Amino acid sequence: MGKKVGDWYQYSGAIHIHTTESDGTKPIQEVITIGKRADLDFMMFADHMNLNNRNAGQEGIYKNMLVVIGYEHNDLNDNHHYLIFESPKVYPKDMTAYEYVEAGAIDNVVGIMAHPDEIRNRMVKFPPYPWTDYSVKGFTGVEIWNQMSEWMEKLTPYNKLIMAFSPRKSMEGPTDRILKQWDDWSKEKRVVGVASVDAHAFPIKLGPLKVEIFPYKVHFRCLRTHLLLDEPLSNDFEKAKSQLYNAIRNCRVFNSNMRWGNAEGFEFYVENGNNKATCGDEIPYIDNTKIKVSLPSRANLKLIHNGIEILQSETETLEYKIRDKGIYRVEAWKKNRGWIYSNHIRVGI
Ligand SMILES: [Zn+2]
Ligand SMILES: [Zn+2]
Repeated sequence: MGKKVGDWYQYSGAIHIHTTESDGTKPIQEVITIGKRADLDFMMFADHMNLNNRNAGQEGIYKNMLVVIGYEHNDLNDNHHYLIFESPKVYPKDMTAYEYVEAGAIDNVVGIMAHPDEIRNRMVKFPPYPWTDYSVKGFTGVEIWNQMSEWMEKLTPYNKLIMAFSPRKSMEGPTDRILKQWDDWSKEKRVVGVASVDAHAFPIKLGPLKVEIFPYKVHFRCLRTHLLLDEPLSNDFEKAKSQLYNAIRNCRVFNSNMRWGNAEGFEFYVENGNNKATCGDEIPYIDNTKIKVSLPSRANLKLIHNGIEILQSETETLEYKIRDKGIYRVEAWKKNRGWIYSNHIRVGI
């Protein structure tokens, strides 16, 4: 259940979930039950290249938990994976990434680049599925962090046993490369950064053992995307769905790894005069403009301005007087592990 923290209502959920309609291992109703048990407020399903679950009427509100269904598009080389929500249909398979991002923008979809930054090349069985065409236009956002992808990037023939049995331990955070790319885009326009689970619950064989990598219930207690809403999430499905998508479009989002603590209660805003702005918002730059941050527990807090870290402090709260306009975001780290990543607040731009 969501919670009001300061001026905004917070809801946390899981983005990018596969089911047996593509390469996931459980049917959607079973995954929904697992998500409900993990106290998710919303779930966003995205099977590969089909909307079967949506067409079968599986979207809805399940005991206060919102379930929406999009799909994951890929090009003919199986690169440029793109999460597409609110599309009227599955776009043709032979489109290039440039073409399906453009088609999605014309249809006003919520389009999110999936695991864009994969570079692994250690194991032939697990090739990377990156984005290479960054000339695309009209996307809503990017997965700055993808649980399954980070796990696969770190996998070697030598560590796979330990990686398989404690999958959450290896999670460190988004790569510097993708954060830089995201900061650069965001200087020009709003680009939402989300943390996705990319849940499949793959079984892999380790010698005589068959181990399920990241069972759904483990996924749902790891990377979460949190929404910041002006009003509580509606009980009416259509209204709740548009609240969710509007929050994502407007970057009213922060992300966390629940492994290091429940991030519910995190606050990050900028205020001056009678104005107050949180993630995704714009605020004018005037005298005495202050950033305020409050963490659910003590952590290493980093403040980033236009992509450059300007302050780092082991703390639970921060008040900082802004000296320059631009885009601001924060990260909170626990013991060298990324815990919370806000979206940007736009000051004077
Ligand atoms: Zn993918
Ligand atoms: Zn996927």
